[in-house]
Amino acid sequence: MSATYVVTGANRGIGLELCRRLSARGEEVIGTARDPEAAEELRELGIRIEALDVADPESVERFARHLEEAPVDVLVNNAGAMAVGNPIDRLELDELDELFRINSIGPLRVTQALLHNLRAGGRKQVVHITSKMGSIDDNTTGGYYAYRSSKAALNMINRSLALDLKDEGFTCIVLHPGWVRTRMGGDAAPLTVEESVEGMLRVLDGLEPADSGRFIGLDGEPIPW
Ligand code: NDP
Repeated sequence: MSATYVVTGANRGIGLELCRRLSARGEEVIGTARDPEAAEELRELGIRIEALDVADPESVERFARHLEEAPVDVLVNNAGAMAVGNPIDRLELDELDELFRINSIGPLRVTQALLHNLRAGGRKQVVHITSKMGSIDDNTTGGYYAYRSSKAALNMINRSLALDLKDEGFTCIVLHPGWVRTRMGGDAAPLTVEESVEGMLRVLDGLEPADSGRFIGLDGEPIPW
């Protein structure tokens, strides 16, 4: 039986490929974009598209209103942004404000707004696309204050969600998609979006409630916090 997926930030990169693969195998997919008119590749998939800026409370409310009572099985909080990564002497602190609004508060806001849809769904899965750059253990080179800390905050948000929603049968994970050749990942990244999404789908398809709260990579193995 097909499931209903919501994928944020679906107009390009990992989100677009995820929508492509999910719709090709017959799932119901709702892809979101900040500017649906400009999302040509997403529109070519013929799936339902909704406008959503995860950092804008009114946009999130409007999106939730459009979904009405529709059950959602899997929410993939994929939308995310990166900042230049200046060292401490040249760091613009406004970058932290912006990236926290997009990478940490945004996914929480979307999850909160769609809780009743997720509760009505059969799977009750929330997948946050995080980054290994948000791992404190893995930070051996410094810098990237805004991106690293906003993803570390997302990791913590996921942990609380997993605990708070455990008794309702939710599975909430943070997933590192690998270093991927997208506008964010750049040309030097070793993985294509196809390879990353292939691995992501393997993880998503095998998710169980016991995985809730975990920080995992494409191989399904835990990543140190
Ligand atoms: P891209 O830069 O290619 O795509 C980012 C997507 O997020 C775009 O659709 C963009 O929309 C959207 N987005 C940005 N800000 C907002 C916002 N405020 N509201 C809604 N959508 C927004 O990046 P990737 O596909 O590579 O990244 C996807 C996810 O994977 C991100 O969370 C990223 O942090 C994570 N990730 C990526 C890695 C990589 O190597 N590529 C490594 C680790 C994690 P728009 O076109 O409107 O800007």
